[in-house]
Amino acid sequence: MDDCIFCMIANKEIDSNIVYEDDKIMVFHDAGPCAPVHVLMIPKKHIASTDDLTEEDQELMGYMMCKIKDIAKTMELDNGYRVVINCGEDGQQTVKHLHIHIIGKRKLTWPPG
Ligand code: AMP
Ligand code: ZN
Repeated sequence: MDDCIFCMIANKEIDSNIVYEDDKIMVFHDAGPCAPVHVLMIPKKHIASTDDLTEEDQELMGYMMCKIKDIAKTMELDNGYRVVINCGEDGQQTVKHLHIHIIGKRKLTWPPG
C-alpha cells in the first residue's frame, strides 16, 4: 500500500534492521526500543489493524503467532517476554499496518499505562 511505512519496509524501499524474513512475514528491530529487545513482526500483506482482519487472514495470523517463539529464541529471550498488538486510537496504534511487538530482556511492569 502506498504511504505505508511498514509496506515500504516489507518491500525494502526503506531500510530496517531485519531479524527474520520469509515469504509471508518480516521481523525487524523497533526504531524506538522500549527494552533491550524490542522487535516488530509484520505480515508482508498490508492489513491495517486487528480490526481489519478477515477470515482469509486466519492462516497468516496463526503462522505469525507460531513464529513468535522462534524469534524469542533467536533473540535469546530465555526468561520470558511480552507480545503486544496495539489497535486504534485508544490502543495507541501509531503505524496503521498490523504489527506484533515482541519485547524483553528486562523485567516488564504490568499493567501497561
Ligand atoms: P504502535 O504504536 O503499536 O503503532 O507501534 C509502532 C512502532 O513502530 C513504534 O514502536 C515505533 O518506534 C516503530 N517504528 C516506527 N517507524 C519505524 C521504522 N521506520 N522502523 C522501525 N520501527 C519503527
Ligand atoms: Zn502496510
